[in-house]
Amino acid sequence: MTRFIFITGGVVSSLGKGLSSAALGAALQARGYKVRLRKLDPYLNVDPGTMSPTQHGEVYVTDDGAETDLDLGHYERYTGVASRQSDNVTTGRIYSDVITKERRGDYLGATIQVIPHVTDAIKQFVLSNIEDEDFILCEIGGTVGDIESLPFLEAIRQLRNELGVDRSLFVHLTLLPYIKTAGELKTKPTQHSVKELLSVGIQPDILLCRCDRDISDDARRKIGLFCNIATEDVIAALDVDTIYQVPISYHEQGFDTRVCVHFGLDTQTSPDLSRWQEIVHRIREPEGEVTIAVVGKYTDLIDSYKSLAEALTHGGIASNVRVNMNWIASEIFEQEDAVQHLDGVDGILVPGGFGERGAEGKIEAARFARQRKVPYFGICFGMQMAVVEAARNLAGLDSAGSTEFGPSDDPVVGLMTEWAKGEDIEKRRADGDLGGSMRLGAYECKLKSGSRVADIYGAAEISERHRHRYEVNIDYKEKLEAAGLVFSGMSPDGILPEIVEIPDHPWFIGVQFHPELKSKPFEPHPLFTSFIAAAIDQSRLV
Ligand code: GLN
Repeated sequence: MTRFIFITGGVVSSLGKGLSSAALGAALQARGYKVRLRKLDPYLNVDPGTMSPTQHGEVYVTDDGAETDLDLGHYERYTGVASRQSDNVTTGRIYSDVITKERRGDYLGATIQVIPHVTDAIKQFVLSNIEDEDFILCEIGGTVGDIESLPFLEAIRQLRNELGVDRSLFVHLTLLPYIKTAGELKTKPTQHSVKELLSVGIQPDILLCRCDRDISDDARRKIGLFCNIATEDVIAALDVDTIYQVPISYHEQGFDTRVCVHFGLDTQTSPDLSRWQEIVHRIREPEGEVTIAVVGKYTDLIDSYKSLAEALTHGGIASNVRVNMNWIASEIFEQEDAVQHLDGVDGILVPGGFGERGAEGKIEAARFARQRKVPYFGICFGMQMAVVEAARNLAGLDSAGSTEFGPSDDPVVGLMTEWAKGEDIEKRRADGDLGGSMRLGAYECKLKSGSRVADIYGAAEISERHRHRYEVNIDYKEKLEAAGLVFSGMSPDGILPEIVEIPDHPWFIGVQFHPELKSKPFEPHPLFTSFIAAAIDQSRLV
């Protein structure tokens, strides 16, 4: 029997609702349950694919090619369960589907309304594509009180009636601010938030309260009294030093136990949280440290590279070192000498990105890494820029460039309008829509035997996730290989270069895909593990 846990948030945004949901999922999983996490996003974009990463954080891509909210990255990293298109929906997608049906005449003359048509579509989404999961954890984006989230709240209110109390649970995440002059945690914002929720017919079952110190028994009783909740169901979500401590901390506070009590499940057996304990131990007590320069474009908002930062940390966990990240806006190298910023770092990573701004700075970073023999990891755009650099400075193609920036005499990176996906052919138009039209999701890649990547993966064939419109141009393969770049990963049909490397270098790898999306703390991605190991070697040289 699948049970549904709905997680809403109140008081302020940025309380870490996604992470809380993921950590509860991990704690339930540690009790042996099968879980899946989902997110309902109230904004009007059909998906976050067209949003700037500096507005909404990174766009997380699933194997089945959905561009989703970054919280799905947390879900995968905490549970290891691969997210799917059917795990994230937005108001935009719901309305777009409802309107398409209306135009087709599917509603047979009915007047289309938020209730029941939109709420029905939301409920259908929540209940669809479920296998044999014990729990579906469903996070509602936004903060209670927002106009946009009302249809979602109404839909989950209806679901409580349809599923019953023993198959549904409402968790509400709030904030208990500590007021210094009063010397206590304040409960009023939580009371107001619950009131807001009650006004749309939802009585939370468990309150998860973000706070920087323990909640006194008095405060717990008070919250319980005002919010109509058992004292035991007022759970402290304490600030922690590493996000991977959260599943452990939640268990210590009784969160997963109270969830089991609600559903009448066994609470005698303790969850096995040993893997989280091991990860936290490694993070808290590293045996060394390395510094990686991340040379990107969206360095102002750390959430734009969420999975990347996590994957680098995971690479450190594998070798028991702390990974310090220097976030550098690549544009700076267009004015200042790269040496000033990159001298002494143990590795350089150029991540994914879009557009011409800062591209020359990334090319400069790749040149610095190649010539100075500093480990270099180019991801997607970072691979493309490394190829442009090698074309210009190794193969002598002075005007090498990417057609993303306009016409080029030597388009070593170009727009692909047709490619194979398994048995099918995907087609795009140069002037087509921007939304959902990139090469998205999992694609196979064949590794060249004897190459560094074949050794790192320990496999001949891999599958990784993509999100890009341009590709390294196969027409330049011979020239670039003659200049010292090895094409060590190719699409199965041999047309799309997926990985390049420089053998005569301590560690220089560029990948067209996004390996960071599949890294997990308990299963660091091999490329990140290997890159950090190379950075450790580099740090010993300095
Ligand atoms: N802008 C490049 C492209 O569209 C790279 C995209 C990326 O780094 N994700 O191909």
